[in-house]
Amino acid sequence: MEKEYDSKPVFSGNVSFGDEAEEIPEEEPKLAQYLTQLQQQNDILGESLRQVQEESATLRDLYNNTNTELTSLKKPALLVADVSTVKGDRAVIRLTNGNKFYSYVTKDARHIKSGDSVLVDQKTLNILQKVELNDNYDVEKFIILDKPKENWQNIGGLSKEIQEVKEVIELPLKSPELFEKVGIKPPKGILLYGPPGTGKTLLAKAAANSTNATFIEIVGSELVQKFIGEGAKLVKEIFELAKQKAPTIIFIDEIDAVASVRMENGTSGEREVNRTFMQLLAELDGFKPLDTVKVIAATNRIDILDNAIIRPGRLDRLIEVGLPDEEGRAEIFKLHSKEMNLKGVQPKELAKLMENFSGAEIRAACTEAGYFAIRNGRSFVTQEDFEKAVDKVRIEEEDTEYKKTFG
Ligand code: ATP
Repeated sequence: MEKEYDSKPVFSGNVSFGDEAEEIPEEEPKLAQYLTQLQQQNDILGESLRQVQEESATLRDLYNNTNTELTSLKKPALLVADVSTVKGDRAVIRLTNGNKFYSYVTKDARHIKSGDSVLVDQKTLNILQKVELNDNYDVEKFIILDKPKENWQNIGGLSKEIQEVKEVIELPLKSPELFEKVGIKPPKGILLYGPPGTGKTLLAKAAANSTNATFIEIVGSELVQKFIGEGAKLVKEIFELAKQKAPTIIFIDEIDAVASVRMENGTSGEREVNRTFMQLLAELDGFKPLDTVKVIAATNRIDILDNAIIRPGRLDRLIEVGLPDEEGRAEIFKLHSKEMNLKGVQPKELAKLMENFSGAEIRAACTEAGYFAIRNGRSFVTQEDFEKAVDKVRIEEEDTEYKKTFG
């Protein structure tokens, strides 16, 4: 708010000199008062001036900042590219859309090497400078890094599969000397395939637990959808991290999202998935069978998987994890109901009822049965609760199947 200052002269009396000098003393106090008032006015004006000057300085700063911002906005953005190879003052660069260029390296960027990220002029595609994009790129944010608690005893009905996983993953990690003595190379990894909810993740976690290995979990579909342009880099860094934290089991769920046979349609999304896949193959080829890193991949869609991933020396041990048979269902049921307060429940009968159920559905049926008991105000669960729960889970399953098929 602007201040208003009184501009009326404060002194209104007549000041006279000369002959009437004797009257002056009478006027002196008035003059002194006038002077004080003038000084006060002067102070107020001085303060206003200081404020106006301060305001002006702030506005000048604002103007300068806006001007700089405006100039920056007018400048064209620089492209970010990866360096493939360097030859003197020229280098092959790759843009995130996959296009490659043979570019001139300017003076400031002479120290670049392959694998670096660089800033590139949009028009000339000359390399201007190196950038450290990975400074705050914390791979651990994008994956699940865990020391799982699940063990072999938590898995029901998969004794043959457990045996195989033990041989391929557990044994080489625990006793590599055995393989060296006999002179064979264990597979670097395995591919678990089968319907959803059958215990593939469980197997991988139990393997990590029994070998006291770090468990790194990544999901194929996330790798290609969430980290567009970064998928290949992320794969590289995951393997790097796995080596640092060894012994490590890298679990790649939904591997089909990265490693499926695709129509070559030449889109940038397609090229991106391809690059991520190529990086994955390169990483698999890059470590030795007796290294302390093992890869377990899982898929529900083995039918669309690219053969390159299961070639010898890669994930060349295929293990089918199918729906459990009756005996398996009974075992899984026992595992998931062991903490429940049961009354008159016949596991064998229920196992028959749960035909075609996966382990995950059996677990869901146990939870549902518990809810039926709670709704009826009981603290124990009966055979009838389970029967109703099995029906409920089956209907829900059919519903989702129907929706998947007909939308
Ligand atoms: P997806 O293909 O959907 O990833 P998956 O095969 O990896 O499924 P899991 O995640 O291992 O399935 O199983 C989900 C849950 O179902 C497990 O956490 C476990 O509680 C239960 N389960 C599945 N199979 C078994 C099994 N064989 N024994 C005990 N529990 C099981």
